[in-house]
Order: sequence, then C-alpha cells, then structure tokens
Amino acid sequence: AELYGIRNWGAGYFDLNEAGEITVRVETASGEIRSVSLMDIARGATERGLGLPLLLRIENLLDAQIARINQSFARAIESCGYGNVFRGVFPIKVNQQCQVIEEIAKAGRRFNHGLEAGSKAELIAALSILDNTESLIICNGYKDEEFINLGLQAQRLGVQIFFVVETPSEVDTIIRCAEREQVRPNIGVRVKLASKVGGYWNATSGDRSIFGLGSNDLIAMVDQLRHHDMLDCLKLLHYHLGSQVPNIRDIRTGVLEACRYYADLVEEGAAMGYLDLGGGLAVDYDGSKTNYTHSKNYSLDEYCVDVVEAIMGTLDSEGVAHPVIITESGRATVAYSSVLLFDILDTTRFEPVELEQTALSDGDHPMLMNLLDAVNNITPKNLQESYNDALYYRDEVRALYLHGQVSLRERASAENLFLQGAQKIRALLDEVDEVPVDLQALPEVLSDIYYANMSVFQSLPDMWAIDQVFPLVPIHRLNEAPTRSAIIADITCDCDGKIDRFIGRQKEHKTLPVHALKESEDYILGTFLIGAYQETLGDLHNLFGDTNVVSVRIHDDGSFDYSREIHGDSIADVLSYVEYQPQALFESFRKLAEKAVKSGKITPQQRKQILHTYTASMSGYTYFEK
Ligand code: PLP
Repeated sequence: AELYGIRNWGAGYFDLNEAGEITVRVETASGEIRSVSLMDIARGATERGLGLPLLLRIENLLDAQIARINQSFARAIESCGYGNVFRGVFPIKVNQQCQVIEEIAKAGRRFNHGLEAGSKAELIAALSILDNTESLIICNGYKDEEFINLGLQAQRLGVQIFFVVETPSEVDTIIRCAEREQVRPNIGVRVKLASKVGGYWNATSGDRSIFGLGSNDLIAMVDQLRHHDMLDCLKLLHYHLGSQVPNIRDIRTGVLEACRYYADLVEEGAAMGYLDLGGGLAVDYDGSKTNYTHSKNYSLDEYCVDVVEAIMGTLDSEGVAHPVIITESGRATVAYSSVLLFDILDTTRFEPVELEQTALSDGDHPMLMNLLDAVNNITPKNLQESYNDALYYRDEVRALYLHGQVSLRERASAENLFLQGAQKIRALLDEVDEVPVDLQALPEVLSDIYYANMSVFQSLPDMWAIDQVFPLVPIHRLNEAPTRSAIIADITCDCDGKIDRFIGRQKEHKTLPVHALKESEDYILGTFLIGAYQETLGDLHNLFGDTNVVSVRIHDDGSFDYSREIHGDSIADVLSYVEYQPQALFESFRKLAEKAVKSGKITPQQRKQILHTYTASMSGYTYFEK
C-alpha cells in the first residue's frame, strides 16, 4: 500500500486486504466499515460476460462524496454561526452518463443537492431526472431563446431554475423571453474575477477569461434590469476560478473578491440571496497534500470553513444578509467513484536474449570485440566511461551494418552485448555514492513495457491530452514484492498511447513497480479516481469503443450487487459511429467469398466458416478478447 501511496490518495475509500488485493471501503448506515476486493468484483463481472477492460462505478462512493460535501458545509455553517444554508449542484458536464446523474439525484435528495446545466441537452436531462423542487438547477453556458423558454416553462412547474448571464447579449434575450412568457425569471450573473489561481485549469480566472462579465458590463446589466423593472429578478452571483484549484489561499481570495461584488449588487438594489462559487474543489490525485497541480493543500472541512468565514468576514462588515451558498463541485463529487480495470497482454524487456551461435571469437569484427571488452571491464569506478564506450561501439556496429560490413547475426550480437552492459551498469548504480548525470535516466530507459488491454484515448483522455496523473496500481499480488518496473503502453498503435507518469511514495515516478506476469493468471491493474471528465471526452482512436461498465452497490452486510451494467461497444457499433453500414460491409465481404467459391479457391463449407468468423467479429468487443 505504501509503495503505491494507496492510503495517501485513497481518501479512506481504498485499501489493501490480507490477500494483497485492493479493496473498496465503504461505511454503512450504522457506521460500520465494509470492504470488498476489486478482484472479486472483476471476477464476477467477467463471469457475467462483462470482461476487461471494465469501467467500475462504485455507487456507494458517489453517495459518500455527496454526503461528505453537504455534511462538511453543514458543520462549517453551524460552527461559524452562518445565517443561511448550503445548496450544492453537480455540473452535468463532469460526468453526463445517465446512470451517474440518476444516482447523484437519488443520493442528493436528502440534501437538496441540485444540478448545473451548461447546454440545452444538459437542461433537458436535469429537468427530467431531478424530481425535487427544493433542489436548484443552475443554467450556465450560452443560452438561446429555446434554452431560456424551456427553463421559464419549467419554472411554472415549480422548478427552481436560475439563468446565469455569461455574456452581455444574454441579458436582452432573458428579458425578452421573460416578458413574452410573463414569468419572473431567477437571474444570476457570472463575474470575471481579477484573482488568478494556480493549477492547470486556471484559464477561467483573470481578466482574459472567456466567460463572465467585467465590472463595466455588470453595471450596464444592472441598469438594463432596473429599466425593465426587473432588479428583483437578479438574485445570484456566480464565479468559477477554474477546476482543480490546488491552493486554499486562491479559494479564499476568490470568495473575498466575489463578496465585494455581491455586497455592491445588494447596494444597487438587486434582490440577491444566492452566492455561487462554481467548481474548483480539488482532488488529491497524488496524495501529496500540497499545492502541486495534481493535489491540494486543504481538506474538505478546511475548504468549507474558509468559504463560510470569508463570506461572513466581508458581508458582515457591510451589513449584508448571508446568502445561500452554492458550489458546483464536479470533480470532487465523482472522481472517486470510477475505476478502470484492465489486464496486461504482453511485455517487452530490455534485456539480452538467448541467441544461438553468437559467442564471439577472435575472427569477429574488431568493433564487436571492442564492445565485448567494454562490457567485460565494467566496474563501479568506471560506469560512465564504460557506458560511453559500449554506446559508441554499438553505434559503430549499427553503422557497419548499414554499409553491409557486418551481418544481421553480428548486429544482433552487438545489441545483445550492449543490453548486457547497460543492465550490468544499472545494477551497479545502487553501489555508487553519486550517479553520473547521464546515467540517471538509465533505469527508465531499461524499464519494461507492459502492454495494456485498453485505450488511453478512449478511457483516460486527460492523461494524453493534458498530462493529468491518475493513481495506477496492480489490484492484486500486493503481498508479493514487485520485481519489475515498467511503463504502460495501450493497444492503440499510437506512440502517445502510453502512460509513463505514476504516483507512488513520492509525487511522481517515471516507472511503475510491477510483478512479472504468470503464465496462467491475468495481471490486472486499476486506474483510480477517474470519475470526472474522462468518459465523454474519450474518443474512438483506432476504433476502440466504450468499455464494459458495471455499477456496484455494496450493502450493509458486506455483500454487493451489480446494480447496473452496460456492455461496451461492439465493432458494428463503432463502425456505424463513423458512418459505415455493418450490413453493407457484410454484403461486400459475402460477395468476395462467393466469388472465391465460384473460382474454386474455397469450398462452400469454408465460405460458411469464413462468414461466421466475420459476423462473430462484427458483433464482438473492440478490445482484446481471450
Ligand atoms: N462550474 C463551471 C462553470 C465549470 O466550468 C466547471 C468546470 O470547470 C465546474 C463547475 C466544475 O469544476 P470542478 O470539476 O473543478 O468542481
């Protein structure tokens, strides 16, 4: 557990059992801890035809995070004597999957946790799934008349819907629609804060952020609403500093600046009553508890107390009533609940291989003999020099091969000798006080490649697109010391389809400690904390489609159910996404087979077998099947 930092990033949700398997830990209603092995879940799913790669959604963790956020705010409100309530909303864009949104609506009901919609499609989903009129629906994003009309009609049904103005032109549209429909809308306004935050996703803060109104546009909007006698409709102030804000100081600065705007809008005569802090509550992906990009230097309780205190600190001195606090935490709500499980198909080792007839003799090319000497003479005292020599002679042999002066067999001997030398040097690095700079990367250069049955592009898009780091760990054999170190390559044939940044004892490592594969046993790894942003951003690179998905619910007695399942895309599915017609494809192939029968290349029986293989492939999983 320590080697992979499981207890650092696992937030108490993941641990290890005595069999060396990763477990998911949940707290029952009566406060007891129940643990279920991920291997048991994977095994059961495979037996049900939902093989690897498999996206696992643990419903209890979704419920637990919603409860943690709401209860933490409730405690902060209580302990600080804050005069209003917290109403969270989940931004649908962070995980739009119906099963996830349904579970959030269900788990959020007792806290009146609502939804945030950033588009018409998301609003339609929110209106249908959120069956609690105490919860809020916050509409962000660009809104046309259709979007606003739909929201206004829903308001007639008692839904608490807020239109957040993102651009000055939206004010006109909202006023026009509201006057036409004769509905008093709940209007919010997104402001551009000058506070700029650290972390990756900070482009949504600062003057150049593409969303929100500056102070001049804000005043113009207030005047416009006053002119239409609608200042009582302006109720909410919204801002969003960016996702994954790692530093609590930035969170506090944002709240302080927003409260200044809030107090002034009250002063201008707007109704107000709601302060929406947007997202930004970070996830400690690497478990370092620092203000490093993939971490955060604050706990959830600290976040809530800081927010509540910062609001009170500003508004109390202005004599402004405390607003309902809204946050749009997405990442922190869903990240923990999904794990991608996948198996390793094969490995490459950078070690010499057994070759026949390659023992060198005096008659061999002098460059080969020099290489042999260099390798034989490696000692802890001459590591750098020996490495330089071995590299030089190996490259000379490669050049000679290009000019036809050594044979393929001789070249293979040179490659083998070089790897032998490099491995010898790597082993001796532990014995020297100071590792020469040029050799520091040798362990990575010589690490294995483990080929994983999954697509980074489909399942972990942030890993290749924006260098996001997720915890990646073997989910079994953890009571055995890992003897190899590796990087992971996926099964797309793209050189970007690899993972070479890992979380361990320290923040980041370039290789992952792994176990040697066993003949008769799958080796299964899990990528954790991937519930946010990964699913719909994934793409069909190399036509690897959606993976199998199962949702698991762990019960109070420690048993678990596969509460929902979705079979991954078939090959016919992915082909049709890119406009092929599986039936037409079959017809073309059938004609080819028929022609082959006619010309006597195959028998009709062989045709039957060939077409059967074709149709079975068409309906099969896009990933490697055993
Ligand atoms: N609200 C808005 C307006 C956003 O743009 C985002 C995402 O960046 C979020 C909420 C969710 O942020 P997070 O996932 O950091 O909680």
